[in-house]
Amino acid sequence: MFENLTGRLGDVLSKLKGRGALSEKDVDEAMREVRRALLEADVALPVAKSFIDKVRARAIGHEVLKSVTPGQQVIKIVHDELVEMLGGAEADTSISLRAAAPVVIMMVGLQGSGKTTSTAKIAKRMTTRDKRRIMMASLDTRRPAAQEQLKILGEQAGVATLPIVAGQQPVQIAKRAVEAARLGGFDVLMLDTAGRIHIDEDLMAEVAQVRDAANPHETLLVADSLTGQDAVNVAEQFNARIGVTGIVLTRVDGDGRGGAALSMRAVTGVPIKLLGTGEKMDALEDFRADRVAGRILGMGDVVSLVEKAAETIDADKANKMAERMRKGQFDLDDMAEQLAQMGRMGGMKGVLGLLPGVGKAQMQAAQAHMDDKVVKRQGAIISSMTKEERRNPKVLNASRKKRIARGSGTEVQEINRLLKMHRQMADMMKAMGRQKGGMLSKLFGG
Ligand code: GDP
Repeated sequence: MFENLTGRLGDVLSKLKGRGALSEKDVDEAMREVRRALLEADVALPVAKSFIDKVRARAIGHEVLKSVTPGQQVIKIVHDELVEMLGGAEADTSISLRAAAPVVIMMVGLQGSGKTTSTAKIAKRMTTRDKRRIMMASLDTRRPAAQEQLKILGEQAGVATLPIVAGQQPVQIAKRAVEAARLGGFDVLMLDTAGRIHIDEDLMAEVAQVRDAANPHETLLVADSLTGQDAVNVAEQFNARIGVTGIVLTRVDGDGRGGAALSMRAVTGVPIKLLGTGEKMDALEDFRADRVAGRILGMGDVVSLVEKAAETIDADKANKMAERMRKGQFDLDDMAEQLAQMGRMGGMKGVLGLLPGVGKAQMQAAQAHMDDKVVKRQGAIISSMTKEERRNPKVLNASRKKRIARGSGTEVQEINRLLKMHRQMADMMKAMGRQKGGMLSKLFGG
């Protein structure tokens, strides 16, 4: 969803990154381009303006412009302010269930926004992950098949639904649902209210009546991110009239421009709690402002990576290793150190998940080659070698390989695979070492 914005911001910020010194004018110029990129992504004008003002005020501060890496600092400020705009890294976006059972969650939104689907997704997750007993009820008496649709989704998701009684009005159904959930010992009751194509007074009056009858603990507005600013307007109106405690933003898997996600929180003051990422029942994600900001800047979860690396990497060792890599002296001892480091950073999955530009497919491909068990065996192989063999793998002939296989409880084939991987890594390291601003310097801050 953020591809365009990511591209635009990437262009602007990479111009800053390489600079040794920045002037106020450089910052202003960059900010003008950032502002244009935000507006093109359909971010609300006042939100874009306030964002730029905040970034600018911090970026032209004395410490930043005079620092050794002003470009990097500005990028960090943009990142931090994006996180703020999205609601802050510490924001509690969980759905609160701290109330007397049955806790009522009322789902509201326009027709077609993904309300019924999201209701079932949330119910399914609370059932399987949180081990709660959930009942769902559809209050949509306008659309003939709406109640039936929720029942079918409930059957698919393994979640109970309130039996359908023909001819009842929304408020009656809501009251019956609360009673049924109480008698049935359910922890949570989810009410899927009716939607309309547009907001109208009829709809608002109906939803307000249901709210008063059912007294919901959470009111979640479901909004379609593809509708951009309209989604934000809808959220504002629902919040003003009904009171909304959280937003579920759907279709973020689509090719929307991101404006809804970016300005929703700032305009409405209501936190985005969940993202709908597909049609399937498990296509639901918790909203994390820092993750999304990282995605927008195309940096993966850079901040976590930098923090994690700082926790686990001994700076001295890292510098020495970076130096050796630049010279193309990456031997098997270095490789063993890298494998151990990877273990400390949560294995392959931990590292890959944090790297910029590593998508799901690449991650799966890499994991197929290198799961964590394989990584452990590779460590065992290397420690069965003599010092000379580790320094200079070329001496490894057939009889030496057999000895190592016996020593490490592996096969010669596996040793050959490891040697091939080492050669590939050595080549890659050499190439990365030469490349300024490449992965190595990102990791080691060089
Ligand atoms: P409602 O009228 O608001 O209840 O909307 P529905 O829940 O019936 O959803 C309308 C359509 O949008 C259905 O085809 C859903 O499968 C689809 N849908 C809902 N959420 C998402 C989402 O996050 N991503 C995608 N791609 N489709 C979704």
